[in-house]
Amino acid sequence: MPTDSWVNETLYAEWGQRFLVKRELARVQSDFQDIMLFESYSHGRVMLLDGVVQITEKDEFVYQEMLTHVPLLAHGDAKRVLIIGAGDGGVLKRVLQHRNVEKAVMVEIDGEVIRLCKEHMPDIAGDAWNDPRAEVIVGDGIDYVRKAEAGSFDVVIVDSTDPIGVGEVLFTDEFYANAARLLSGRGLIVNQCGVPAMQAEELAETSLRRGKVFPDIWAYVAAVPTYVGGFMTLGWAAKDATLRQVDTATIRARAEAAGILGATGYWTPEIHTGAFNLPPYISKHLPQG
Ligand code: SAM
Repeated sequence: MPTDSWVNETLYAEWGQRFLVKRELARVQSDFQDIMLFESYSHGRVMLLDGVVQITEKDEFVYQEMLTHVPLLAHGDAKRVLIIGAGDGGVLKRVLQHRNVEKAVMVEIDGEVIRLCKEHMPDIAGDAWNDPRAEVIVGDGIDYVRKAEAGSFDVVIVDSTDPIGVGEVLFTDEFYANAARLLSGRGLIVNQCGVPAMQAEELAETSLRRGKVFPDIWAYVAAVPTYVGGFMTLGWAAKDATLRQVDTATIRARAEAAGILGATGYWTPEIHTGAFNLPPYISKHLPQG
């Protein structure tokens, strides 16, 4: 229905962004969260979960490309990829763009997020839902990693909500211990770690937890316009410390072979390697920073 009213993001009590709503598309209270989708004047279609912006059509590519292409190309031979959360399907689409990926399992707790994104934001995932390499499971990520076979994935991508509510379990010691177990010998895990100018403790605490089970802990940055507050950090935990030091020329060659080069709006080989260079206000929150 047409509204022309403002929607305020409620992520921070003292500060926030707002959107002028052209048309509300859906408002659903699922078993897990309040889901709101609307058409904006400024950012295309937008989804909020519990009042927090998750995705906008205008800038989703920034986050999805960096969350996907950086770990897959740093690994260089990722064939089996586990995605936790990411119900909009955007990470699944980017993972399946890599020719060498043989299997992508996506575990999203909220089937309503998948349903509503398929209905109202079909371009985010495109045909990824029907790709024979994709397996989409509606379930809790913590349950899935508990049961997953040791060494069964090369890369884990956690595209979750912040560590409150249903997303909280994905930031625990238990989750990271199981992630380390299910990853193969050169495996790595990345996850969204918030905007450190506003959510520094999210990066600091989860880095300490990852450091208990992974030898190489770091973070890399992406500037996502609608995750307000400057750079957002993507947490990095790897079994092999050389993976984040792969040079730009090698990353370029891998991207060309994978079919990624020239197919992105934010990620480039230079941005890939540069994103690991952190400003001191961010690196000071990391154990090795
Ligand atoms: N890219 C956006 C961002 O980071 O803001 C969107 C992320 S949104 C699609 C995150 C998804 O994680 C939600 O759909 C939510 O249902 C899912 N999620 C939260 N906790 C989860 C859990 N324990 N297991 C699986 N998925 C979970």
